[in-house]
Amino acid sequence: MKSIIDFHMHSNHSDGTDSPSELMKRCARRKLSCVSLTDHDTLSSYAEAKQEADLQGIRLVAGIEISVDFEPGSLHILGYFVDPENQALQACLEEVQRAREERNPRIIRALNDLGFEIEMQDVLEAAGQQGECPKQIGRPHIAKALVKKGHVKNVDDAFRRFLAKGKPACIEKWCVSSKQAIEMIRGAGGVASVAHPVSLRLDGEDLYDALKQMTDEGLEALEVYHSSHKPRHRNDFLDIANRLGLTPTGGSDYHGRNKPGLDVGFLGRGICLDEGAVDALEQKTKRNEIV
Ligand code: AMP
Ligand code: FE
Ligand code: FE
Ligand code: ZN
Repeated sequence: MKSIIDFHMHSNHSDGTDSPSELMKRCARRKLSCVSLTDHDTLSSYAEAKQEADLQGIRLVAGIEISVDFEPGSLHILGYFVDPENQALQACLEEVQRAREERNPRIIRALNDLGFEIEMQDVLEAAGQQGECPKQIGRPHIAKALVKKGHVKNVDDAFRRFLAKGKPACIEKWCVSSKQAIEMIRGAGGVASVAHPVSLRLDGEDLYDALKQMTDEGLEALEVYHSSHKPRHRNDFLDIANRLGLTPTGGSDYHGRNKPGLDVGFLGRGICLDEGAVDALEQKTKRNEIV
């Protein structure tokens, strides 16, 4: 039987809606064999997911998706095989969480200035925040609150008009540089991959040059396969990955009800990630063991 691999998904510890254990149960129902849960800027979902993955007989690779300072588009760097207990990585993620907490009220103020009546409490309710377990709040939750209050049609509308990069209520948050993110991932024993390269908003040689610079910084993989990629993207990204010696990775970017119509395991029509890719990634983590 062919194994199904998905190396990009989110739980409710970032902006997905499934709890880590619900997510692993879903992966088991969909017959996935090897997955990585890549919550944005946090590793807090790993322990619960690992417990359930073990029960379900799924191989769970510790993962993360780190937001990085970048122009003209947005850059997310995925880390795989990281040690979830690594102190330097944990400390850096705490800084990022503080930056998020500082940004959310500013986004709300910008929306108020635009004439929308919305408060932090609305956002917490939209996020399903439970007192004892603080979850990471971000733009998708603010978008949901705007929908609930009838200010916009849907989440997409909220991003398109107000929250997407360059729009009037998008406040940039403090982010690490690509070099810092890659060093942090490698320092925690992992390998770094650039997520959904389309979001960099570069193509041709400009995209190649940006990825070449990150390869010089220690990048070792590229998310060639992603649920949103068209065949043309896959061809271009595979070509760049081959030229730079980056291992192709892939994932659905499942977010539960926050991305309706997308299930775990979907990497594009007819696309499967080969187990060889996971082995290749794992091999790259063994760089420090050579004597
Ligand atoms: P934040 O982490 O608060 O900056 O929010 C970024 C997240 O918003 C991304 O990880 C996506 O999951 C989500 N997002 C970005 N653009 C859109 C969009 N147009 N529609 C829905 N969700 C989006
Ligand atoms: Fe997200
Ligand atoms: Fe992303
Ligand atoms: Zn993602």
